[in-house]
Amino acid sequence: MEDEEGPEYGKPDFVLLDQVTMEDFMKNLKLRFEKGRIYTYIGEVLVSVNPYQELPLYGPEAIARYQGRELYERPPHLYAVANAAYRMMKRRSRDTCIVISGESGAGKTEASKHIMQYIAAVTNPSQRAEVERVKDVLLKSTCVLESFGNARTNRNHNSSRFGKYMDINFDFKGDPVGGHIHSYLLEKSRVLKQHVGERNFHAFYQVLRGCEDEELHALHLERNAALYNFTRQGAGLSTLESDEKSHHQAVTEAMLVIGFSSEEVGSVHRILAAILHLGNIEFEETEEGGPEQGTLAVTKEELVDYVAELTATPREMVLHCLLARTVASGGREVIEKGYTAAEASYARDACAKVFGVQQWGALGETEKALREEAGSEIARSRQALVCPQAMYQRLFEWVVNRINSVMETRGRDPRRDGKDTVIGVLDIYGFEVLPVNSFEQLCINYCNEKLQQLFIQLILKQEQEEYEREGITWQTVQYFNNASIVELVERPHRGVLAVLDEACSTAGTITDRIFLQTLDTHHRHHAHYTSRQLCPTDKTMEFGRDFRIKHYAGDVTYSVEGFIDKNRDSLFQDFKRLLYNSTDPTLRAMWPDGQQDITEVTKRPLTAGTLFKNSMVALVENLAVKEPFYIRCIKPNEDKVPARLDEAHCRHQVAYLGLLENVRVRRAGFASRQPYPRFLLRYKMTCEYTWPNHLLGSDRAAVSALLEQHGLQGDVAFGHTKLFIRSPRTLVTLEQSRARL
Ligand code: ATP
Ligand code: MG
Repeated sequence: MEDEEGPEYGKPDFVLLDQVTMEDFMKNLKLRFEKGRIYTYIGEVLVSVNPYQELPLYGPEAIARYQGRELYERPPHLYAVANAAYRMMKRRSRDTCIVISGESGAGKTEASKHIMQYIAAVTNPSQRAEVERVKDVLLKSTCVLESFGNARTNRNHNSSRFGKYMDINFDFKGDPVGGHIHSYLLEKSRVLKQHVGERNFHAFYQVLRGCEDEELHALHLERNAALYNFTRQGAGLSTLESDEKSHHQAVTEAMLVIGFSSEEVGSVHRILAAILHLGNIEFEETEEGGPEQGTLAVTKEELVDYVAELTATPREMVLHCLLARTVASGGREVIEKGYTAAEASYARDACAKVFGVQQWGALGETEKALREEAGSEIARSRQALVCPQAMYQRLFEWVVNRINSVMETRGRDPRRDGKDTVIGVLDIYGFEVLPVNSFEQLCINYCNEKLQQLFIQLILKQEQEEYEREGITWQTVQYFNNASIVELVERPHRGVLAVLDEACSTAGTITDRIFLQTLDTHHRHHAHYTSRQLCPTDKTMEFGRDFRIKHYAGDVTYSVEGFIDKNRDSLFQDFKRLLYNSTDPTLRAMWPDGQQDITEVTKRPLTAGTLFKNSMVALVENLAVKEPFYIRCIKPNEDKVPARLDEAHCRHQVAYLGLLENVRVRRAGFASRQPYPRFLLRYKMTCEYTWPNHLLGSDRAAVSALLEQHGLQGDVAFGHTKLFIRSPRTLVTLEQSRARL
């Protein structure tokens, strides 16, 4: 790798383009990509294109070349950004964050790993044991989280199915002393159902392939993933990775290094096995029964035995949870209620839908009427389906919390009042448009709207405002502000999530269809909302099923089917209590809410949508007070092949990431800005008038004299308190003359 890049590599910073057009942008991106230059700046924003091949860009040597350097001294690189964030944190004691965005398969997670490796490599020169431990946990946690949170999808063989924000805490020496991981919206429906060509979470296959015979036997599992409903759909078995076994070993080892006990690892395996067995349980209608016992029975009773054994719970209670429920019927009276025929048939259909089996016979009119009558009660009979995914979600959250508990900062320096400085790394799902988009996509795309808004605020708006404040002549750049789309989703009372909550709180009577009608009423004049009802000629949407949001990144049609169910995300207290009563302490710890008595559970829990919204608001607030660095990842082609950049595909990403606007603002502006005293502190030794101290009346005058001596005064503008430097070259020249001394 060359320190300097010649003109044959195109422009290392899009700010240096002759003209800011999509054509020129793409030409430069493509030229650099073809020459193995996958990184390019826009000022301090790093644009990264996934090479889909191993390039000799990483490792200790490369790290050494970036360590302690200014951003512009070396060719664009993730290490340079990591280094800039680290130095900002260390020298100026500022909390920083690195926001990594881009669509699925664009290289976000790989980028975050390189950043972590860089930070691990440049810290703790004195080899303090506690710091080494924290670094080890930070690095090893990735492997564990990928096992439980990643899966093979059609767009990425190792796709993160959750959002991740990781804070790393540094002490006054600049060494990592702790950390914290926040996870967002795990795609738990994947536990039940995977699309054609896709797989369940890696962890399931790793246990099936990797456990020793003896352990597998104790789990009542066979090695063959084709035997389990949850692992045999989608990609089927052709995609079982040959190195699943070594992954299993690596994950287990990582868990032990992090500090999970071997009992805990055993419990985790048992929970995974119990979920697989739950997936194989089938229901049938019986002649017996009545309103109390219900008309539902379980076939393959031995599976109930396995589940009871693996979860260390009483068998009758497991069976009860699957077939009946306890409801509080006013006051403190508690009654048992079996599922009715209607509920049973609903559960059956739901199972059929989940497993992609044909429906068992068409529903007759009376049956349909029964189903509608049963309302929300019916939805509850889906517990059989909801249980395994809830168990998996709790398992995942427990793993995250367990890692957090060992990363809590120990031995804080009292001189700093316990305040560490933080670097946050955000690796979160990109904008998503699937053939059918549901509640999950709405959440994901809303998240991207929020982050885009933050980007606009921080990079574009603040920049413009700063120029105005500093009295620098400035031409306003027009950019698309997505605030009204964010409002459309999150606004109290009328926003999509609020209307959905309203629908969920009205027991049983509101259907997805009525929810859609309410949305139509509220938003019929909204510029970014439409539906078939509002636009009857648009045949790409279906009456009574679809609505469309014009996101900043493109239009997405959402199907309201299941929205209410997914948002309500209800789980029977019976089931929570079952697992809370487990004699396995690990499993028990995952279900603290199971200790509540049924008659006490009157308060409606927050809905999935509201929880997600709250977590997004908190995330954005957290990021907004940090000094941000951005990495914008681009996926070069849909086929995951190396050395092919599909222009149309990339153009779209460049457009929705707002990269051209970003360049325009940067160019209209300046590559760097520094308060006069800070500038002098760094460069005063390069000029006889300013070293060791200047007598020029003001810092501004001193900076002016310094620049004049270097012949650089043409490339800057003088603000009220800061110097604005137009091109990165000027910085490099100054750095070089400083280094020569
Ligand atoms: P998702 O949103 O689905 O999680 P992602 O943006 O996190 O996607 P990654 O998992 O980071 O995408 O990358 C997808 C794949 O692309 C990787 O598994 C790897 O094969 C390849 N890849 C990404 N970045 C690089 C890189 N810098 N060098 C080589 N290969 C890479
Ligand atoms: Mg990822």
